[in-house]
Amino acid sequence: METVADFKEIVDVIKASGGEAFKRCFQCGLCDTVCPWNRVTTFSMRKIVRQATFGLTEIESEDIWRCTTCGRCPQHCPRDVQQIESGVALRRIATEYGVFPPAAKPIKTISASLVAEGNPLNEERKKRGDWAEGLSVKTFTEGMEILYFPGCYLSYDPRMKKVARATAKILKQAGVDFGILGPKENCCGESIRKTGDEELFKRLARENIKTFIDNGVKKILVSSPHCYHTFKNEYSEFMVDFEVVHISQFLFELINEGRLEITKEYGKKVTYHDPCYLGRHNGIYDEPRGVLEKIPGLELEEMVDSRVDSLCCGGGGGRIWMETPKGERFSDLRLDQAMEIGAEELVTCCPYCITNFEDSRLNRDNAEAIEVKDITEIVAEVI
Ligand code: SF4
Ligand code: SF4
Repeated sequence: METVADFKEIVDVIKASGGEAFKRCFQCGLCDTVCPWNRVTTFSMRKIVRQATFGLTEIESEDIWRCTTCGRCPQHCPRDVQQIESGVALRRIATEYGVFPPAAKPIKTISASLVAEGNPLNEERKKRGDWAEGLSVKTFTEGMEILYFPGCYLSYDPRMKKVARATAKILKQAGVDFGILGPKENCCGESIRKTGDEELFKRLARENIKTFIDNGVKKILVSSPHCYHTFKNEYSEFMVDFEVVHISQFLFELINEGRLEITKEYGKKVTYHDPCYLGRHNGIYDEPRGVLEKIPGLELEEMVDSRVDSLCCGGGGGRIWMETPKGERFSDLRLDQAMEIGAEELVTCCPYCITNFEDSRLNRDNAEAIEVKDITEIVAEVI
């Protein structure tokens, strides 16, 4: 393997995945000013873009694996350089050559698990629907109001299964006619695509699309902003168009339509964290706050970085599967921000955010001072 990737190859791949936007860069450095990495270490997207322009990017470098695709720098770039697409293009070359620095090594195991079992957690496909045991959740059939697609983490991760169960409880209480696909559900493929494995993404997407069509699915309810983003914005590349709703939007709708009644108070001070793929990437800021504001007794206060300026949890772009050393975790900073305003609970609605925040919380000396909750867990308690 060459130490420096071939210029023509880099240019070709970048062209194929978003044009030559990186050539528009005039090195202003605004991207580095807003990038969360520069709160914990030194990292320069500006430098990566400059190197890509001249075909000098070292694909062995861990730097090309750092970007969490949080979406902050593209919103500030005066030249529309499309840093995320250019960064993913570089990862595609690295993936093609099988060049993974130590931090990105877990991706090989993740890919094998996605191929064999349809999830990144090395869990058995046949157990995908086990989270719903004892809840009388039906298998989806054509004609039902909505397909509930919990995604990988809510299907298998012990912490996140509680969120899937809370969601099922709410849907039943609201009288929603819903079903799940259980073992027929596959990972949506969003994050593996961002690590550069385009072929595996396409394979997962095609399998899911075939399952949706075969089962007469028209409307999909998701818990993960990553599933939301890829079903809504990326599956359309396959000439399909499903209606996709995130749970925060659906809860807002159910409450406003009077299908879901809040009957209890929730006397706590909470703060809401905007997941990058719900907020910056898809503009959904108001509905989750709208749900929390409907709960009597709940005091909602904003953290210093909120809405469009939300601080990334560190889990996007496949980083959820990579090791981030202590001292470099954005989620630690986010917990600090929540505690600075005296929040008793940090609330969000993304499995990656919750996983990272719980990890940060448990690594603190004062872990009991704050709780991390999914918005559905709060709603399930007050209905
Ligand atoms: S903000 Fe855009 S133009 Fe400025 S250095 Fe970054 S990529 Fe280049
Ligand atoms: S998308 Fe986010 S993490 Fe990636 S380089 Fe830009 S600001 Fe940094």
